[in-house]
Amino acid sequence: MEKYILALDQGTTSSRAILFNKAGKTVSMAQKEFLQIFPREGWVEHDPMTIWSTQISVATEALLKIGGSWEDVAGIGITNQRETTVVWDRETGLPVYNAIVWQCRRTADRTKALIRDGYGEMIHERTGLLPDPYFSATKIAWILDNVEGAREKAEAGKLCFGTVDTWLLYNLSGGKLHATDYSNASRTMLFNIKTLCWDEQLLKLFSIPASMLPEVHPSSHLFGYTDPKLFGRALPIGGIAGDQQAALFGQCCFEKGDVKNTYGTGGFLLMNTGDAPYFSKNGLLTTVAWGLDGKVTYALEGSVFTCGSAIQWLRDGLKILDSAQDSEYYASKVTDAGGVFVVPAFTGLGAPHWDPYARGLIIGISRATTKNHIIRATLESLAYQTADVVALMEAETSLRVPALRVDGGACKNDLLLSIQADLLGIPIERPASVESTALGAAYLCGLAVGMYKGVDDIKKGRSVEKCFTTEKDGAYRETCMKKWRRAVERALAWAEE
Ligand code: ADP
Repeated sequence: MEKYILALDQGTTSSRAILFNKAGKTVSMAQKEFLQIFPREGWVEHDPMTIWSTQISVATEALLKIGGSWEDVAGIGITNQRETTVVWDRETGLPVYNAIVWQCRRTADRTKALIRDGYGEMIHERTGLLPDPYFSATKIAWILDNVEGAREKAEAGKLCFGTVDTWLLYNLSGGKLHATDYSNASRTMLFNIKTLCWDEQLLKLFSIPASMLPEVHPSSHLFGYTDPKLFGRALPIGGIAGDQQAALFGQCCFEKGDVKNTYGTGGFLLMNTGDAPYFSKNGLLTTVAWGLDGKVTYALEGSVFTCGSAIQWLRDGLKILDSAQDSEYYASKVTDAGGVFVVPAFTGLGAPHWDPYARGLIIGISRATTKNHIIRATLESLAYQTADVVALMEAETSLRVPALRVDGGACKNDLLLSIQADLLGIPIERPASVESTALGAAYLCGLAVGMYKGVDDIKKGRSVEKCFTTEKDGAYRETCMKKWRRAVERALAWAEE
């Protein structure tokens, strides 16, 4: 009887469960969206109990869909929305506040003060991150400072903190396990990525008692077992990784210099930088990719704020598309963008510009410009922004990126990927399974429970569905990138008073 790995993929808008077989093929999938809570402008919360209940129900549903039994499941891997913060009572197991989601900006002032008081460099050196409300530290501090009685309880050792993986693990184990993995810990802004320990000085800076923190383990590790009351048997939980790191693993980016890009709502480019962390001078983040076989692998991460959401804007804002998918059809009706450039800096620009005041622009319009040119130029902007981040990573690490492995919603667009190949001059590889995130969690668990002997065993199963290459030369790329950068320059600082 073939055994499966159950991947729990707890995302920002939905909880998903996927059963994979040993070859990494999806056997069954179930998904449930859940409520986004916006108590105030810029605040985002989730109900932790809903996170748990949707996650457990999709797990059961995925198994029921194939008429399987829990005996068929060899183990569970968890991947999750990163940085989102849950604090709960150790005795009752109940959250003391809603989960504060990574997108939530409520701690923007606290972060600004950290930068003003000169903590930026110290935080970067220790955690690889730049002070931002994104990360968990200021969210935990907010809960301790604003929920009645929380600080006293925390100081008496009665509260637990966890990112979403930890919250799920705690509930899966019937309250027995309070642990996380290196990749999630490295997004809290409390974890020293060099010593691989919770950083005492940072805990002091944020006044967070160490007793609240989970144990930290490698990403592929036998964390423990599920409470037998849940599934009728104790299942091993063998893998945990944050979503972007899990995708890097799922894409088999096991070698130094390997890069994956996720074309989702935003864009996330991660590069495996091997067993030593690189610290960027230009705003790329350093993060733990995973811990495996007694070793830690690091990654550089660059994010593009507006990626697939630029296509959504064509659909919902400009209403010149019925669906995101149609962008390929219209953009293919013209051979190029006719000199038009779209810089989708709707919420500023991330790496390599880091300009919160940049705003979107369309430039190069002439009397010959049509809707198709605008659509094509918007699609091209996804590829241009990605090319900028790849160039920055190569320049900072002196590593050559051999190929770009892609996933995320917009990677289904063939035209986008050929444009990307033209702009980068390297092969763009779309894997057979674009569920890289869940697959990464399944692989990490599969290694821990002995389904795979090692990463070489996993690599054997990797298959590229389509590889996009280019005939364009370096001169073409240079001309294009130069024009793109001229357009970007004009978008910078636009909203600054
Ligand atoms: P999320 O970041 O929410 O996980 P997904 O990975 O599901 O997002 O990607 C959704 C994004 O991909 C949307 O912003 C959508 O506009 C874009 N998208 C989906 N299909 C296509 C397509 N065929 N061409 C271009 N963009 C697409």
